[in-house]
Amino acid sequence: MLYQDMFKEKHDVEDIAGLIKSIGPTDINIMEVCGTHTMAIAQNGLKEILPNNIRLISGPGCPVCVTPAERIDDICSLSKYKNIIIATYGDMLRVPGTRREISLERSRMDGADVRIVYSSMDALKIAKENKNMQVVFLGVGFETTAPATAAAVLEAFEDNIDNFSVFSIHKLIGPAMRSLLDAKEVRIDGFLLPGHVAVIVGERGFEFLARDYHIPGVISGFEPVDIMDAVLMIAMQIARGSAEVENEYTRLVKKNGNIAAQKVIDEIFDTCDDLWRGLGMIKSSSLKLKRKYSKFDAALKFGIEYSFEQKPSACRCGDVLKGLIEPEGCNMFGRECTPDYPVGPCMVSSEGACAAAYKYM
Ligand code: SF4
Repeated sequence: MLYQDMFKEKHDVEDIAGLIKSIGPTDINIMEVCGTHTMAIAQNGLKEILPNNIRLISGPGCPVCVTPAERIDDICSLSKYKNIIIATYGDMLRVPGTRREISLERSRMDGADVRIVYSSMDALKIAKENKNMQVVFLGVGFETTAPATAAAVLEAFEDNIDNFSVFSIHKLIGPAMRSLLDAKEVRIDGFLLPGHVAVIVGERGFEFLARDYHIPGVISGFEPVDIMDAVLMIAMQIARGSAEVENEYTRLVKKNGNIAAQKVIDEIFDTCDDLWRGLGMIKSSSLKLKRKYSKFDAALKFGIEYSFEQKPSACRCGDVLKGLIEPEGCNMFGRECTPDYPVGPCMVSSEGACAAAYKYM
């Protein structure tokens, strides 16, 4: 048996469900803030295995889903400039802007040079191979992908590359969690914390939860046993009235995280206020390039004025991301909005709550 397979065993999952039931906490809401958790929970039917009094709700953990429509409009406008190549992760291609017909996929069909890359370094390579073109990398994702974007900028700086830039819509998960807790729109009794982000920020990165909000949080891996274990740990904390940040994912997550990755983020980026889809403007929640690296900032380079006004939309991704409704609570779910013809990013992304619900309903 592979080491990883130890965390997939069905009988273990059921045993843990039995333990959770035996603790018998009253009704509790546990929010997961990682799209990979959302998908794993749906794929393995964990909501059905858990006792009825434990409610797992999805939060703003899918980086594609939280990208505001206004930024999609911005990058699509940029894609129409002459001599520009937009390099993007594939997930972003079909995300709609403020209108359904605005997307990078549509821009590409209309003749824009939009290329899918698997890393920021691939985008930099395209720039090095196409000196007569400007290459703009769409920097998206949380603390997990920001170090790679930062490394590409650092290499471009050291090699004095002048046809590469980043349109940064990188986000930080901590400020979004704070914003949800401060808004108090949905009751959150505990957090299933994102293992991937925690690899970078460490247990320390989530200590604010217990310290400032007295809310339990458990960093979890992505296999069914990991997730069930983490839920059990949260339920135990609630049952004994404690609030700590615990680490179920010790095989990868350390107390202080990945210091080298944190350093490269700090070297390249400053935090800034920005819009989140559905959550609105959140202070110091996003990453923009530092002044020293401003020649690699696509927004500055091409004079893009960020719009901070969120336009109303019939898509209820914002409510899904805040845990206010389940995907099925949106009138368009499975009707006008399907993975083949998505209306919102939660149906586009392979980690989106609507896509997960649709695929495994
Ligand atoms: S079902 Fe579609 S329209 Fe409704 S919230 Fe999800 S992505 Fe948005």
